[in-house]
Amino acid sequence: MTDSFVHEALPMRVVFGAGSMARLPDEAERIGSRRILVLSTPQQRELAQRVTALLGERAVGVFDEARMHVPVETVAAAEAVAADLAVDGCVAAGGGSTVGLGKALALRRGLPVLALPTTYAGSEMTPIWGLTENARKRTGRAPAVLPRSVVYDPELTMTLPVDVSVTSGLNAVAHAVEALYAPDGSPVVTAMAEQGVRDLATALPLIADDPRDRVGRATALRGAWLCGACLGATTMGLHHKLCHVLGGMLDLPHAATHAVMLPHVAAYNLPAVPAAAAALRRSLGLNDTADAADAVAALTALTARLGAPGSLRDLGVAESDLARVAEEVLAGPYANPRPVNRPELTALLHAAWTGDAP
Ligand code: NAD
Repeated sequence: MTDSFVHEALPMRVVFGAGSMARLPDEAERIGSRRILVLSTPQQRELAQRVTALLGERAVGVFDEARMHVPVETVAAAEAVAADLAVDGCVAAGGGSTVGLGKALALRRGLPVLALPTTYAGSEMTPIWGLTENARKRTGRAPAVLPRSVVYDPELTMTLPVDVSVTSGLNAVAHAVEALYAPDGSPVVTAMAEQGVRDLATALPLIADDPRDRVGRATALRGAWLCGACLGATTMGLHHKLCHVLGGMLDLPHAATHAVMLPHVAAYNLPAVPAAAAALRRSLGLNDTADAADAVAALTALTARLGAPGSLRDLGVAESDLARVAEEVLAGPYANPRPVNRPELTALLHAAWTGDAP
């Protein structure tokens, strides 16, 4: 990716640090929002209330019904509240589901979004939006949905349960791994991906041992930022395609699906992209004599050490579903460094289903 490339930096503003949530009012002032709707999931209502208190008169309402995969019905309900309250901006306080709702409001009503991420999904760093209607998720890219400012406060991640931290963190690692071999990568993306994986590979074991480890939380959130920026900057390949199809067709949990698939797709793709394999080796702390197989083994060991879900079978997938998944993956074009054919894809899916080491 270093011989020739195009790199376009996205206009992102990041405010990072423990306690940085207190800077939300300043960020709201910066973008000129005076009537803000605070978004959250029902589980994070209390956080939405804290944000409301912090924003004072600027916060005119809370919509706490954000849900996974941004159903159009949820967006319509939030739009109605936004219209009633004549809001001129929103704060999305939560994970990818809540940020996704904010993006939908930016897309449909032109509302500027401030993001206060509380997981490692990284959606706040991307111009990618998603909307689910009649059980089908449509996605697209639009610069207008990029949050105008992202406030990363590691203190808000202290309550993220270990299992969600692990799967969400591995979801972020998957963004970086695919960015390393993306057709639109660049040296900047490689640097972000390497550091992002290094941060998460260092931090997630600390968090698994002690979810209140402050260094671990701050390091993981920094890694999530960098990995999210990789996702926003590049075109994803087979891994994301597979997870998208698995999630859409079988309604699987988003981050857990990424965690299961990560070592399997890495094992498939990395031998075809030596520079990406070398970057991953460096970020996982392996020495120069290690090869792509060693990088895959290190990724596999990391997921096992973290107690991540190990197989599609564990996620409730039936073996008989695999053929349909392969069919849909083969039907749609996507960027991938190694061509994908039916027998190899079937073997990959089967290994991910049984949980055998790739
Ligand atoms: P999520 O936002 O659905 O959150 C999972 C659960 O954890 C929710 O109940 C939430 O309330 C809770 N939670 C979040 N933070 C918490 C915290 N700090 N403490 C306690 N509980 C907390 O999950 P996610 O993995 O962050 O996001 C997944 C969604 O994001 C998917 O729909 C995925 O498609 C989307 N996504 C989009 C992009 C993009 O670029 N558009 C990127 C990544 C993910």
